[in-house]
Amino acid sequence: MASTPATPAATPDGPVDDGFTVLVVEDQPSVRAALVGELRHANVHIIHEADSAELALQQFVQHRPDLVLLDIRLPGKDGYWIAQQMREAEPGGWTPIIFLSGLDNEVDVWRAIEAGGDDYIVKPVKPIVLVAKLRAMRRLLDMRRRLVALTNELHVANQQLNAIVEIDALTGLVNRRGFDRVLHNEIIAARREGTPLTLMLCDLDHFKRLNDAAGHVQGDHCLKEVGRLLRDVCVRPRDVAARYGGEEFALILPNTPRSGAMTFARALGRVLETRALPHPDSPVGPVLTISGGITTCLPDAGTSAEAMVMRADQALYAAKEQGRNRFFSFEMQMDTVEQRPGGVGH
Ligand code: GH3
Ligand code: MG
Ligand code: MG
Ligand code: MG
Repeated sequence: MASTPATPAATPDGPVDDGFTVLVVEDQPSVRAALVGELRHANVHIIHEADSAELALQQFVQHRPDLVLLDIRLPGKDGYWIAQQMREAEPGGWTPIIFLSGLDNEVDVWRAIEAGGDDYIVKPVKPIVLVAKLRAMRRLLDMRRRLVALTNELHVANQQLNAIVEIDALTGLVNRRGFDRVLHNEIIAARREGTPLTLMLCDLDHFKRLNDAAGHVQGDHCLKEVGRLLRDVCVRPRDVAARYGGEEFALILPNTPRSGAMTFARALGRVLETRALPHPDSPVGPVLTISGGITTCLPDAGTSAEAMVMRADQALYAAKEQGRNRFFSFEMQMDTVEQRPGGVGH
């Protein structure tokens, strides 16, 4: 069945055609021709036609019309079936469907609406009724489109807002709020994938002394530098560096086993050493150093973000106790300077 596009034109009773598209499904050529004529008269210029269920669905998918006029009695599958198929073909979408039928009793109306139709016109179609219903449907469709557009805009705005509220202003890293969300999600993902998840809590050594000796502006500069450095060491796409609080940072490392975590921590310590940010008053040495607590687990149903943070925090405390400038892991029973607890320090 041929489509019958026409040149857009202005008519006395309406604006220039704006591309509104109607699919007419009707098996009787004379009735179909009359409908097309009425639509043209009503200023609808893009009209597709079908005389069977198969062609109707094909045209529906291909042209995505704005409205469907759907005959019930057709050779083969009927209009009720077509309406159901059309609804299934556009999950989340909505194309108005107006049934056309010579059948005029309440049960048919009920069946038509039940099948996914939005309205029902009894044949022979009176032009004034057709145009009125077309207008009503168009109004609904426009309203729905505005609503969908608004919802999409809101969604984008929400994402932007989330991005803003989850970013730490000083370092540009994910903030505490973002950290909580990411850790929660990664625990679920690791549980589902059966992969090890590593969390590191890091704390700058003797940072109060740095502030006291060099001033808060210099302290802030150091925090920014450490932030940049942590972002640089997180090379895998799902690794996340966060500012947990003041001079404390957290690293979420999905799919990272204990040994990998130790290697990562050693590399991190070396990078900071190479960066050599001066610390004028540190008992550890002339440059800024960092301590960290590592915890690695294969999350199960009982694993919580709080428990992981607590465990990493205890490991951090142990690293500080053992002399700072190191990362400690209870699971490995060792730290990055290979000092066993209670052993001889460097
Ligand atoms: P430790 O090695 O035990 O961690 O010693 P510390 O001095 O780093 O630890 P403490 O928790 O006593 O002090 C943390 C300091 O970090 C306190 C505060 O002066 C500094 N700090 C926290 N947030 C900021 C910040 O945003 N900017 C600056 N410049 N300093 C901060
Ligand atoms: Mg028919
Ligand atoms: Mg601290
Ligand atoms: Mg500190």
